[in-house]
Amino acid sequence: MNTIHEPTVSINRYALGGNDIAAIHCYVAGKKIESANKLEVRSPYDGRLVGTVQLANKVHAEEAIQAALKGGKKLTRYDRYSILEKARHLLVERKEEFAKTISSESGLAIREAIYETGRAHDVLLFAGIESLKDDGQIFSCDISPSGKARKIFTLREPLSLAVCITPFNHPLNQVLHKIAPAIAVGTPVILKPSEKTPLTAIKIVELLYEAGLPHYMLSVLLGPTNEIAEPLVKDSRVDIVSFTGSVAVGKHIASAAGYKKVILELGGNDPVIVMEDADLDLAVYLAAEGSFRNSGQRCTAVKRILVHEKIKDAFTEKFLAKAKEYSCGNPADPEIKVGTVIDEGAAIYLENVVKRAVEQGAKVILGGNRKGALMEPTVIVDVPRNADMVVHESFGPLAPIMTFKDIEDAIALSNSTAYGLSSGIVTNNMEYALRFVKELKVGTVNINEVPGYRIESSPFGGIKDSGLGIKEGVIEAMKCFTFVKTFSMPW
Ligand code: NAP
Repeated sequence: MNTIHEPTVSINRYALGGNDIAAIHCYVAGKKIESANKLEVRSPYDGRLVGTVQLANKVHAEEAIQAALKGGKKLTRYDRYSILEKARHLLVERKEEFAKTISSESGLAIREAIYETGRAHDVLLFAGIESLKDDGQIFSCDISPSGKARKIFTLREPLSLAVCITPFNHPLNQVLHKIAPAIAVGTPVILKPSEKTPLTAIKIVELLYEAGLPHYMLSVLLGPTNEIAEPLVKDSRVDIVSFTGSVAVGKHIASAAGYKKVILELGGNDPVIVMEDADLDLAVYLAAEGSFRNSGQRCTAVKRILVHEKIKDAFTEKFLAKAKEYSCGNPADPEIKVGTVIDEGAAIYLENVVKRAVEQGAKVILGGNRKGALMEPTVIVDVPRNADMVVHESFGPLAPIMTFKDIEDAIALSNSTAYGLSSGIVTNNMEYALRFVKELKVGTVNINEVPGYRIESSPFGGIKDSGLGIKEGVIEAMKCFTFVKTFSMPW
């Protein structure tokens, strides 16, 4: 049985509690903010205090804007590369410390937190490499009857100021996916991380300062939304708002931001689609990893398992056995695969969507229970197509299984939600694969992989409610943080 392991404060090996409570500050361009207004960060698992953050206010937000716009030493490509490389080395040295902080404040299993430090390493590596490459193009103009003997050249210039707002679910990687590409092109950033996971975000900012990043290039602010996030989003001196988070907040930002670039990486409701010819063991593995890794809290987690009706029983039997391997409990225990979700409120929400689906005819065949913020990996079959759990994004370790009758039905079902982030298809049939690539209304189609598969430099992002189709990933994000200038010369 996939039972929850009870919270036990005393055996928490990785606790940051006791003398190790992190008492940290926001920073305005490298300057620590001293403030009586403190945020307490508690473990979602056992409620212990893991850190405090001295918060910022609107005066600090203004100071951060002014410091970034005033600027400082202009960084060469080699400077930017060296800072990113130094940061990468420091992160490797401190990866356990970072993993413990991620796990303590988010409740993610320590093994997931360690995995995340590896992804963050790659972001720094790729941003460093990309910062050295030239990004210009050359257009010869004498190529048509009306042409001239000239050449047009392009170069990319950094934006004056980026505001980056990040969610809780990958406390380190989401932050670096914004800051590292901005550093790679020389664009100053004001970071507003999630108040649910501020400790990791501030630690990586401190590490970047230590790696030699000039202070004007980065501030990190947390505080009341109406004093920090909202004024920053609206400020006309900010060139770009890069936001990752929920659809509701993303759409609010889109309307509040006014005349500036806005990057929105929003929620997902990704399917894994298992065709009748699929390698069943592979399908089961991908569906389980996609549903339960990171406590199911990935924008690209598998949120719907769509299975051809001919193989439903065989798939479900194997999937149930696999799902039982995902032990759920103390995030600090290296043997535990699934830690908590972000807080008890989120777990209660998940428990309720399961209950509502059951009232609509679904059947829970594994899990379904919650203790505090621990939500058991849950397998649900016979989920109706209109159940909230599958219409909206359920951000947790839920695995709803639904069936389809043929590829038309699979495509229609997959496309039936408001989201369009990613997808995974399990098939060995090339015709099927090509149809899914062409007909799914999503940002990514991964054949024989989970929807979340990517490398940190490849283009990533969704359409419909999942985003505006503007991609992130290190290379695309670097483009977002610059504008293209052209110049031409006689030749
Ligand atoms: P969220 O509630 O939207 O919060 C995200 C960030 O927005 C936080 O820093 C939050 O600050 C801030 N925020 C809240 N209200 C704001 C406002 N009025 N103006 C400006 N900023 C505001 O999202 P979450 O619950 O942290 O993250 C989970 C969501 O993120 C899921 O939907 C997931 O799918 C999505 N996500 C998408 C991607 C992607 O690449 N597409 C990746 C990861 C996650 P506070 O913490 O202070 O409230």
